[in-house]
Amino acid sequence: MKIQWDTPRFAVLRDRELCVNCRICEQQCAFGVHKKDEKTGKMRANAALCVDCQRCVACCPIGALQIRPAENTFRPHAGWTQDARQEIYRQAATGGVLLSSMGSSQKEVPCYWDKLLLNASQVTNPPIDPLREPMETEVYLGRRPDKVRRGPDGKLDTALPPHLELKTPILFAAMSYGAISYNVHAALSRAAQALGTYYNTGEGGLHRDLYPYGANTIVQVASGRFGVHREYLMAGAAIEIKIGQGAKPGIGGHLTGAKIVGDVARTRMVPEGMDAISPAPHHDIYSIEDLRQLVASLKEATGYTKPVIVKVAAVHNIAAIASGIARSGADAIAIDGFRGGTGAAPARIRDNVGIPIELALAAVDERLRQEQIRRRISVIASGSIRNSADVVKAIALGADAVSIGTAALCALGCHLCASCHTGLCNWGIATQRPDLAARLDPDEGAQRLVNLVNAWTREIREMMGGMGINSIEALCGNRLALRGIGLTQKELDILGVKHAGE
Ligand code: SF4
Ligand code: SF4
Repeated sequence: MKIQWDTPRFAVLRDRELCVNCRICEQQCAFGVHKKDEKTGKMRANAALCVDCQRCVACCPIGALQIRPAENTFRPHAGWTQDARQEIYRQAATGGVLLSSMGSSQKEVPCYWDKLLLNASQVTNPPIDPLREPMETEVYLGRRPDKVRRGPDGKLDTALPPHLELKTPILFAAMSYGAISYNVHAALSRAAQALGTYYNTGEGGLHRDLYPYGANTIVQVASGRFGVHREYLMAGAAIEIKIGQGAKPGIGGHLTGAKIVGDVARTRMVPEGMDAISPAPHHDIYSIEDLRQLVASLKEATGYTKPVIVKVAAVHNIAAIASGIARSGADAIAIDGFRGGTGAAPARIRDNVGIPIELALAAVDERLRQEQIRRRISVIASGSIRNSADVVKAIALGADAVSIGTAALCALGCHLCASCHTGLCNWGIATQRPDLAARLDPDEGAQRLVNLVNAWTREIREMMGGMGINSIEALCGNRLALRGIGLTQKELDILGVKHAGE
């Protein structure tokens, strides 16, 4: 007798009255949930295989399907939740590390964006109407000169250090080719170009086809150095040294050999079928002095034409780390928070290591201001930016700009099924299987990304106008624009905001 220890988490509900047995759900589900019973001619579902990606629901032409949380529940226990027990069954069966993907959904770790409220002008400082008056959402990322001189014609007479110019304070976060499909990278690069912003290669190198989008590309150098060569460094508008990632601070990356195929292998410069494992540390960085050397080497290798960003995970002593990075010669620091997404991470690390971006960001901005080095370096925040209000709150807490990863993937169809590590993404995003990857049209995807960022930028202008602010730079670190709700005094102190009503 076979015992099913790991009981299904989802129920696949099919309306038998509506279903015409067209088999579209069977074709669309790479997890093999739906099968036609040849004897009865009816569709059947194996719910144990379902990950709740909602692809079949979205593709069923007559709306005959629903996926719901399974109703079967274990005997309730306050500490030993059903998830806790099911994880033990899985590990007892396999002996393996629990893998997952996307960002942590730990309910106990607060999402501070939802506990912060924005200000609006009333009477004494009137709001600005963004439809009738100019609103500046352009952002410069990089070291700011100590003094700026202008010539007699009023034009800038000071050579600016290499920097990035964004039309909106939103970048696309680092996601590597290999973890996501070629079509996603193609969509991101086209959207970045159309929007006047940047996408980030992640640690998998840059596909040859996408070199023409280099002016809107940040090329990443991670500990594995996959796909890194001089032409690659020269191709991007900026270089990012990846030290850490919010979803898995302290460990490296792992792309399974199954995903290292064809152009992914060629772009990464690793043999086909071989696991691409990037080490936890950069083996040439054990101190800020070492980091300084790598920053200097990358600048020298690219003729001092590219700004260098250092990306770190939000961890306990992030303010001191950021202070060191600001002194390393880097032009920007990218901080990725606890809820940041990933294509694959050990679930224990994703759900237990690091701190929320909101607290990290506020602490970093405050420390850099106290040390009077804030102008030396720009701050990019990421890790669960879900909408335009989160962007505005992040900037008010001290970010110059934000990166969006999960939100961008949602615009392309992601339903957060947290199964990217399986390589079977039914939406054609986190997969290298040609039939699945072909489901995402890069032109349509680029348009959806452009629509999303344009919509957010419009909303950002409206929120800025409501606060009486007409330049996004005037919002940066402006915590008077924020009030906390339901937070402890300690949390308010770290965030540097007053409680609502004060
Ligand atoms: S895995 Fe996705 S496509 Fe397959 S049955 Fe579940 S919801 Fe439908
Ligand atoms: S990218 Fe695909 S596999 Fe990953 S969470 Fe989104 S829908 Fe699921």
